Amino acid sequence: MHGRPTAATLADMDTTTALPTLPTVQHPRSVERLVQGQATSDGAGVKLTRVLTQNLQRRLDPFLMLDAFGTDNPGDYIGGFPDHPHRGFETVTYMLQGRMRHRDSAGNEGLLVPGSVQWMTAGRGVIHSEMPEQQDGAMEGFQLWLNLPARDKMRDPWYRDIASEDVPELQLPGALVRVIAGHSHGVDGAVQREGTLPLYLDLHLEPGAHFAQPLPATHNALVYVYRGSIALAGTDVRRQRMAILANAPGSDGIAMQAGSEGARAILIAGQPLNEPIAQYGPFVMNTNEQIFQAVEDFRAGRLA
Ligand code: FE
Repeated sequence: MHGRPTAATLADMDTTTALPTLPTVQHPRSVERLVQGQATSDGAGVKLTRVLTQNLQRRLDPFLMLDAFGTDNPGDYIGGFPDHPHRGFETVTYMLQGRMRHRDSAGNEGLLVPGSVQWMTAGRGVIHSEMPEQQDGAMEGFQLWLNLPARDKMRDPWYRDIASEDVPELQLPGALVRVIAGHSHGVDGAVQREGTLPLYLDLHLEPGAHFAQPLPATHNALVYVYRGSIALAGTDVRRQRMAILANAPGSDGIAMQAGSEGARAILIAGQPLNEPIAQYGPFVMNTNEQIFQAVEDFRAGRLA
């Protein structure tokens, strides 16, 4: 708060509510495209909705995949994701409901519970399992795949469990913002990354509430609504829809307003890598040769 001209008028207010209000967005981005996710299954028959599919990887560079899972039916999730490999990118899992146990070849183990985040950098290779730790009840959350720059694809694996209480939060009028990655209105998120500069916000908006997020025009950005609805620069975005935001030169951010029922949405943005993308299942590299190498390393037990 030091030196801010508004400090005197904000003196009586809780600092968590007083902080922001300063950055504004004058030229908000428009919605370029609305996407409805595709129902699919992965792992051992886990039903999920793939929101960011492979054909959007170039458009939404540096993001490679976004899955939304949400069900009350244990049959949809009970098989979990038994041991499988990854190389060349990062996975970010954000739980809303339910419990998932994670174990990997680097000896890490963690339990994802509601509100918590697991950030895993596969680097040159990780073999892990992600298994539900419940027999009934709801399971809901997201998994995002974030690409690594070519120079970091073969780096050492890295892993962090972020407890719900360790996800920084920001209270604005009518809006609670959970800052998983990047920075929002002066609040640093739980994780920062060079190269891709990811921003990952979980927004809880009261009915009619406004929220704005400054963002460079060159960063690719998406908003996925998982409760209620929002209006983004004149476009209504309903539940279970992803809006891809236009990168119009001169735009300075994203502005939204929640509908009459309020809304919950994730806002994800990042700096594109503009590097070749070669993917074969859980391996994402830059060239086919590197993919062959990954498959061979996995078969020979050298991946992790
Ligand atoms: Fe995985």
